[in-house]
Amino acid sequence: MFAYIPCETDGCTHPAVTGSPCCLLHAPDPEKTKRDLLEVLEKTRSLHSSTLTGAEIRDRDFTGCRFSACNLSRNLFINCDFSGSYIQLSFFDFSKFLHCTFQDINIKYGVFAGSEFSSCSFADSDIFHTNFLGISARNCAFDDSDLYYSTFIQSQLEFVSYTDCNLNRVDFSSSRRNNVNFKYSNYEEAVFTRD
Ligand SMILES: [Zn+2]
Repeated sequence: MFAYIPCETDGCTHPAVTGSPCCLLHAPDPEKTKRDLLEVLEKTRSLHSSTLTGAEIRDRDFTGCRFSACNLSRNLFINCDFSGSYIQLSFFDFSKFLHCTFQDINIKYGVFAGSEFSSCSFADSDIFHTNFLGISARNCAFDDSDLYYSTFIQSQLEFVSYTDCNLNRVDFSSSRRNNVNFKYSNYEEAVFTRD
């Protein structure tokens, strides 16, 4: 698990960005702090036990990257490509993803709770035990994916496609669904209501 190191600024409860004693808000040069960490990731294609929160991350190529035990909560991702990446036990909760691609990815124990997705694709992926609790998603596709034991409890889904997916033990209870397509998927093995 990532180590929680608080920002050194008095009274700040945000975690420090890896490589800095402060959160992005209190870093003397936030752009440089963010850039330095993203450059490590782009060079090594791997990020382990690292923290970057509250950042705007735009037009980045994360294809084939490995994320493990990372805290990437509360970020705004615009036009980022995570295709072919591997995400394990990492937090992307309360983030916003616009026009991002998660094609052919492998996620185990990912946390996207409370996040917002617009025009994103998670197609052709293995997404196991992943938490999409309370997300809002619009114009997104999970087609041809295995979502075993993932949860979409209390999510708001609009124009979201789950064509030919494995939905075994996937929990959609208390979700609001408008124009959601489950064609060719085993939706009878998913959970839609709880007693
Ligand atoms: Zn701070």
